[in-house]
Parts: sequence; structure tokens; C-alpha cells
Amino acid sequence: MDLDKRLKDMERKLAQKTAAIESNAQQRLRALSRRIDEAVAKIGRIDVQTPAGVQQIELSVPALRSERVDMSRERSVEAVDSIMEAEFDVHGRLGGSMAAYPTTYCESAREYIEPLVADMPVSDSQREGLIQQIEQAAQQGQLPPILQSLGVHIPGVGCFINGWYMAQGAGVSPRELFDSPKGFAQIVTTASHEKWGHGFITELTASGAEKKSVQLGKHHLADQFDVRTVDTPDHARLSEQWEILFFSSQYVEEGYATWIERYLAECIAQRNPNCAEFLRTAPSFSIDAIHAALSNARGGAECAQAIQALFAPSASISFESVHAAMADLVAAVDAMGDAFLHTVGMPGCYAIGFCIVDAIAQRQGPKCIPFAVAAACNIQYGLAQISNHDLRNYVTTHPNLNVNTRLALMMFLSQGTKDDVQGFMGRVRDELGITPPFG
Ligand SMILES: [Zn+2]
Repeated sequence: MDLDKRLKDMERKLAQKTAAIESNAQQRLRALSRRIDEAVAKIGRIDVQTPAGVQQIELSVPALRSERVDMSRERSVEAVDSIMEAEFDVHGRLGGSMAAYPTTYCESAREYIEPLVADMPVSDSQREGLIQQIEQAAQQGQLPPILQSLGVHIPGVGCFINGWYMAQGAGVSPRELFDSPKGFAQIVTTASHEKWGHGFITELTASGAEKKSVQLGKHHLADQFDVRTVDTPDHARLSEQWEILFFSSQYVEEGYATWIERYLAECIAQRNPNCAEFLRTAPSFSIDAIHAALSNARGGAECAQAIQALFAPSASISFESVHAAMADLVAAVDAMGDAFLHTVGMPGCYAIGFCIVDAIAQRQGPKCIPFAVAAACNIQYGLAQISNHDLRNYVTTHPNLNVNTRLALMMFLSQGTKDDVQGFMGRVRDELGITPPFG
């Protein structure tokens, strides 16, 4: 082969190879270009979709934390706190306020139980076991009593609303309940009852603070769950102590909580017309109507008589006479059992307790009420040292140391200028010999 021919042959092969490389390169370039286009398109889509993605995350946040909604951030519950302060100036007079305590809407059984069992003197695994046990019972439709409450104030912690249980009753989801005017009215009135009723007594009165300091409420709670691992005399002593104080203050606790629930419901109704009809279903009682209903009910005559003796006494009033009338009435209500509930619609401590508070409100003005309660509860028993024998003796035979009696006696205090809290406190001290928390 001559050199020219070999050279041409090499040139042709080189050209073929170059063309192949070029073609291959172009193919790869096109492929690469497609991938870049796709990537750019993707990046573009991501950019465009980012707000939607963010929005989705935002929307799912309530779903993720839906089981626990801090209602003190909700407008209407904040409104309850500010109404309470504006109406009564609680902070100004008592130096403390419930506004600092959160109100939590629980959307599952667990969310409601967890804070209740948080401080129980048991191991973490026992606590978890207990929660699971209650959860399982709830799933199977067996409701333990603790899950059948609408709400609770946990001393020093805050107010918890059992949205899970309320929703079960309404046949909707807890979220749907929260969003409906009817459900929201129920939530707000429950929060008022628990937070500004029981919570107020626990956090802002002397006897409430003392019970809290010896952890009586938590102890009683542990008792209800029956989670003790050993029996101790201390346990028996504290259980009995809780019972003695419970029964000597029950009409004040439930009567005031029911009254303030109704009072705040009316205040909120005026500001929220869309919920008004539901808010105005908060319970309200008149002693004349209760008396009439009991007079006509089988087995109610004795109770009706006892109501007459307490609310419209024929003889002169004293601590002793009111104490005896109160004790007779409580005994008559207890003797009626469920018949009282069926006749009146709520247990005696709620219905008659409401009427005691309302009688004071009508005579002295509603603005005096939280402070009437604070004065009735302005007792320190020395719970850490006192024997149960002495404690029982004090609340049964010393009328001025019985919370129910102290409040009932205020029904008969002379009338001054309505809603003059300072003047009312002065008469409580001078006429009744009850030490007011201020004034
Ligand atoms: Zn209550």
C-alpha cells in the first residue's frame, strides 16, 4: 500500500470517528440539556409551589397540635378573663388573678388524663399504664368517672376542658364542636365554671391555698384512681381530711361556680350575639321555684321546709341558727337522694348553693360576690398540723369556721350601697365577725 492511500484511509477513519464522537456528544448534550430543562422546570415548580407547601404546613399545624388547644389565646376565653377583671377588679383587690392560668381544650382522652395524673406519686411506667388503661376503657365505650367530667381546674397548673367527652355527647368531632356556636358556648361556660369558679377558690382564697399547699386535691385524685402501692395511716388521714373540708364547703364551691358561670355567660352573650341563645342555657335557679317543686314532689316536703327555715327564718338570725338550718337542709337534701336531682334538675349543692349566692347578689350587688366567697373561704385550719378529730370538731361545732355557714349567713347582712365592695367587706367584719381578706 502506498503512503498516500494509507494517509487517505486514516483521514477517512478519523473523520468517521470524529463524526461519531460529535454525534455522540450532541446526543449527550441534548440529553443533558433535557435534564437541565427538567431540573429547571422542577426548580421552577418548587419555587411556585413553596407558598402552597408552606400553607399546607401551616394548615396542618392545628391538626398536629389539635389535641391540645390553649384556649386562653382564643379571643372569647381571653374575653372571659378580661370581663372578670373589668367587672370585679379581682387583681386589684386580691393581688392575684386567674388570667395567668392557661385554659386548655383537650381533644383526646389522653390529653385530658395526662395533666390529671402528672403529679401522682407513682412511677412513670405505672402512670403510663394507668393512662393506657383509661384510654382502652374509653375506646371500648366504658367511661371511667374521671372521663365523664366536662372540665377540671388543676391547682397551680390551669384549667382543662374535656372536649373529647363533650364531642362524644354531641356526636361530632372535638374540632367541629369547638367551631360550632353551641359547642363553643358549652366550652366557654365550662371554662368559666372551672377557672373562675373552682379555680378562683383554689388559687385566690385562704382555705383554697391551704388545701393546695398540702396537696389535698392531688391526693384525692390519686385516691379516685386507686393507684396506691401501699396503705399508710397518712393516706387514711389525708383522705378523711379531704372529705371533712369537701362537705363543709361544697355548697360554696358548686353554688359559686354555677353562679359565676351564669353571670359570665350573660356578659359574653351580650358581646357574642351568635352564641347568645346557647350561652343563656347556663343553669340558673330561683329558690321559690325549687321550694314549689319540692313541696309538690313525693318525699320533698321535709326539704322544702328546710329551705324555708334557711332562706326565710322566722326567728332572729345568728351564726348558730344559720349553721343549724344549713345542716338540716344538707341532711334533707341528702335524704332525698336522686329524687332531689330529678325534681330540681341539678344536685343540691349546685342548685341551692346558687340560690344562696344569688340572694347575696340581689341584696348586696353582684360585684360583691367573688369577695363574699373569698371572705367565706378566709380560713386557715393549719392542715399540716391539725388532727382530723379537731378539724371535724371545728367545722361541725364552730359555725364561724364552716365555709358553707359563713356564706349562708351573708344572706342576712344589712344592706348598704349596692356593689360597694369595700362597704360590704366592712359590714361582713363588723356585723358578722368574719375576717375579710381585705378592707
Ligand atoms: Zn363544679
